[in-house]
Amino acid sequence: MSRRPLIAGNWKMNGLLADGVALAEGIAAKRKAQPDLACDMLICPPFPLLGAVVGAVAGSGVTVGGQDCHGKTAGAHTGDTSPALLKDVGCSAVILGHSERRTDHGETDAQVKAKAVAAHAAGLLAIVCIGETLAQRDAGQTIEVNKSQLKGSLPEGANAVNTVIAYEPVWAIGTGRVATPEQAQEVHAAIRAELAVLIGEAEAMKMRILYGGSMKPENAAQLIALPDVDGGLIGGAALKVDDFWAIACNC
Ligand code: PGA
Repeated sequence: MSRRPLIAGNWKMNGLLADGVALAEGIAAKRKAQPDLACDMLICPPFPLLGAVVGAVAGSGVTVGGQDCHGKTAGAHTGDTSPALLKDVGCSAVILGHSERRTDHGETDAQVKAKAVAAHAAGLLAIVCIGETLAQRDAGQTIEVNKSQLKGSLPEGANAVNTVIAYEPVWAIGTGRVATPEQAQEVHAAIRAELAVLIGEAEAMKMRILYGGSMKPENAAQLIALPDVDGGLIGGAALKVDDFWAIACNC
């Protein structure tokens, strides 16, 4: 089963306007020069940069996403952003349930699921993040934790077109400590097996599962080559044009 890889950049809370535009323009220029590279490319800047970044990548094939959205369409939710607005300003995707949101903002599986439902209703691709902490891994709970987060966060109606799963072991995010290929493949295969239970074998085989956590040009090739790894959700290395592009070139 061939799944088209997705190389997604999660810029987190980094960069000012000029940095974001330069980064987006740099990635767009590389992509324009090599349109037949066999992957989709997505960049997810901080909210205030979305409009400028959408403009900067226009016509390049690189798409833009948000890093979160609210579970409701509109209303009295100070500081939040609706999925409809993300779509309206030119986003095609949104990252949901990132471990930093789960930790910093106490987001639960149920909230992530509600956000994914709202994202789908707005026509956005939902990138649903799951992953175990180091304590959970050390306690031998890795597979159980990921299965439980997946079951709790995956919205009804999820399919391979409207949803991507990102497996991000919390201990590997921003730490420089990457999962070994064996660790990544074991969890990705378990996630796909659980997807088969939740949405059926055929759809599970088509759904993309990204690896995230200290993916860099030096380790991307062996991770992306794994049978159940369908690209990456990249933080630190997505902030440099050459690093992000070098990762994509493994597709
Ligand atoms: P990192 O972040 O690549 O800097 O580890 C990945 C992520 O949190 O999405």
